Amino acid sequence: MSSSQITARSIVWGQFRLDGGSFFGVLPRSLWTRLVPPDEANQIPVILRSLLLETDGHKVLVECGNWPLFPEKLRDKIYKLEQPPMAETLRAQAALSPEEITDVIPSHLHFDHVGGFFHEVNGTPKVLFPNARLHTQKGQLEWALKPSPKDRASYTPALTQLVADYEKLVVHEGPWTLVPGISVDLAHGHTPFMQIVRAETPFGPLVHAADVVPMRGQVPLAFIMAFDIEPLKTVEDKVRLYKNNPGAVFYCGHDPENPLCRVVTDDKGRPTPEEVVLEGL
Ligand SMILES: [Zn+2]
Repeated sequence: MSSSQITARSIVWGQFRLDGGSFFGVLPRSLWTRLVPPDEANQIPVILRSLLLETDGHKVLVECGNWPLFPEKLRDKIYKLEQPPMAETLRAQAALSPEEITDVIPSHLHFDHVGGFFHEVNGTPKVLFPNARLHTQKGQLEWALKPSPKDRASYTPALTQLVADYEKLVVHEGPWTLVPGISVDLAHGHTPFMQIVRAETPFGPLVHAADVVPMRGQVPLAFIMAFDIEPLKTVEDKVRLYKNNPGAVFYCGHDPENPLCRVVTDDKGRPTPEEVVLEGL
């Protein structure tokens, strides 16, 4: 299959909110507030996007929205989750039904990356994409089932168990290829065995940066989330991401405005984002 047959578009499911300081790590407040203005609770909007890739026979979602079954206080007061029913969003934005999705590739199993694989039916979680294979990594699944005290809050035990029990779960060990032109590499700093999806599209290589570069403002090597398990590994992940994908457009799924950028070097030789606008993304 020729790579020009892989089409890419964005699906925006909604947003939730996280503490801005946690999101930007060691970056001083005076700097990150210029990148993303916080609200009165010091929180910033974190957009929930999927990259939808389509080829003959495959309709693939990279990332999958947020967990819709949080207790009310967590959902409304803390995360301020705004995510209309995802089936309706998919129909409105891509004219697809959830049954048509063949593959879902969450970068990792934090609730805001795989949670929307399930929706609420009469108070219980049910699979939203019944025909989709759900692709994860053995190392991430094992970690998610037994997270550290530092990142326990990013996983939802009921959600992780549903993922582990899902009959069409595909557990990979290491980099893999879905079809020619859609391949998966790994990063380990944010969380172990995070999947980085690269697609060869008519726009050129498109690389989903997952939570290595969740927002475009985080392209500089030191602008790392405080949530990361091993921040120095995230620095290595970024260096490798940029080096292994020359000329690529990077997809920063949590960005408040536009997920797309190229990585260029500034006058001091440091990586910096350059905005890219592509139709449908
Ligand atoms: Zn995230």
